[in-house]
Amino acid sequence: MYRTHTCGELRLEHCNQEVTLSGWIKSVRKFGSITFLDLRDRYGITQLFFNESITALLDTNPLGREFVIQAKGKVIERSNKNKELPTGDIELEVSAFSVLNKSEIPPFTIEEETDGGDELRMKYRFLDLRRDPLKRNMELRYRVSRAARNFLDSASFMEVETPMLIKSTPEGARDFIVPSRMHQNQFYALPQSPQLFKQLLMVAGYDRYYQIVKCFRDEDLRADRQPEFTQIDCEMSFIHQEDILNTFEAMTKHIFQDVKGVVFEEAFPRITYDEAMRDYGNDKPDIRFEMKIKELTTMLCGADATMPHEFGVFKDAESVFAVAAAGCSEYTRKQTDELTEWVKRPQIGMKGLVYIKVNVDGSIKSSVDKFFDEEKLKQIAASVQAQPGDLILLVSGERNLTRKAISELRLEMGNRLGYRNPDVFKPLWVVDFPLFEYDPEEKRYMAMHHPFTSPKPEHLAWMMDESKYGAIKANAYDLVLNGTEVGGGSIRIFDKQIQERMFKALGFSEEEAQEKFGFLLSAFEYGTPPHGGIALGFDRLCSLLGGSESIRDFIAFPKNNAGKDMMLDAPGPIDDKQRKELGL
Ligand code: ASP
Repeated sequence: MYRTHTCGELRLEHCNQEVTLSGWIKSVRKFGSITFLDLRDRYGITQLFFNESITALLDTNPLGREFVIQAKGKVIERSNKNKELPTGDIELEVSAFSVLNKSEIPPFTIEEETDGGDELRMKYRFLDLRRDPLKRNMELRYRVSRAARNFLDSASFMEVETPMLIKSTPEGARDFIVPSRMHQNQFYALPQSPQLFKQLLMVAGYDRYYQIVKCFRDEDLRADRQPEFTQIDCEMSFIHQEDILNTFEAMTKHIFQDVKGVVFEEAFPRITYDEAMRDYGNDKPDIRFEMKIKELTTMLCGADATMPHEFGVFKDAESVFAVAAAGCSEYTRKQTDELTEWVKRPQIGMKGLVYIKVNVDGSIKSSVDKFFDEEKLKQIAASVQAQPGDLILLVSGERNLTRKAISELRLEMGNRLGYRNPDVFKPLWVVDFPLFEYDPEEKRYMAMHHPFTSPKPEHLAWMMDESKYGAIKANAYDLVLNGTEVGGGSIRIFDKQIQERMFKALGFSEEEAQEKFGFLLSAFEYGTPPHGGIALGFDRLCSLLGGSESIRDFIAFPKNNAGKDMMLDAPGPIDDKQRKELGL
């Protein structure tokens, strides 16, 4: 028997018992003729005590960090208790040990805080995974999946696996492609999501489906995106949007309570996409703090500005947006200069920043005093509902860019003011997304969610009129948590004619639609129930629950930010033989 107990198990009540432990040596501390060792396994750390005679054996049998050893001995009470450690009241007085496997000196220290850089730790991920912080993340990930499964199981959802080798379809991101050996010059694609399969399962009558499933998207990697990631993917039949929101709100609450002990008493707030864009400048608002943005375009831009003025920058701009940063009126010149530099960074792309200080004593001071008298500044302050003590920040320029800039600036001020505490959780639903979004580069409308999303019934007729596309709203919704989209879904089209109309609107000819999605259109001829669903980003949900920005820390074997697996050194070349076989 390799062990009678784990390294996290022994307590005072085990004293005087003869036990055997196996594990990894975390540290060896030799004091003259005696030695203390910390032995680690998945469950914890136990201190081993080597008396003089056992210590003497180390001369011929040296031990080092990360050696795997087995130690037998008696559990004894420690004279020097370690309150930090669950096993800190006891130690194992070793009577015999054997080395099960030696270890090289690890390339970084395997401690709570390590000295290894990111890339090095990714190369030796199996060592990094021994560290407590990563182990806690992996445990959290497991608990989240278990909580999700328990909830879904109790609600009659059935997990069904769907294929990984599928057909490339023009939907969303770029596909990862797998060449076929048996069918030369033919290719599989890896699924970006099981979207069509879950809809086909609804056609098959499996009315509550879920799957914790890998998805693959060959996108240009932004910080903290992974080319393969995991979704909690779900679909239901005979439901309305309301049923989906309620079911997955209940699942989210269950997960938070089970994993984190966080109880959401209230229903998640719901706001429309239009409200989110108006008040926060983006569709995934962080509502841990208020500080809503305000558009001042009508007031300040163009010849018809409702407040006439001579400030050319605003007059000539397509739009002006503002936000009042609470309690920042005493910002120094240095601080406002710093914010100006911040909005000028290429990621934000503004030409400058205007500020108005609404001082606590009621006076007002701005960077545009030359152009706006006090009365006008007060009017601006009133229209953004600034309070005494606030610092109003204004940016101007092209509408979408400027709205994005003010939204980022709001978040930045939220950070600076300490409003974005990762231990505070503020979920909400964003509903009524537009069905289409115009792509100025491709000069055509694209599906905002995906081509299987149904328009709101009252907007159905507008699908016959391209000039109305921009106004059509969809039965599509996102679950947002602390400024991050954690899930999204929609009620689906289940009528063949509407689906065909949708493909047409997206620019597919009838033949193309048939070639790419014939199987779906055909399924729609055989009795399709009304259905809808949602997918939650599992990695992201875990990272939020774990209070971390990085999803990588919650994936056992992640890729780096350039999409490389540093441990496997993948992607890598293949040899000529393989290439020939594949006809490449
Ligand atoms: N398949 C969709 C996605 O991956 C989610 C859904 O509509 O259920 O975003």
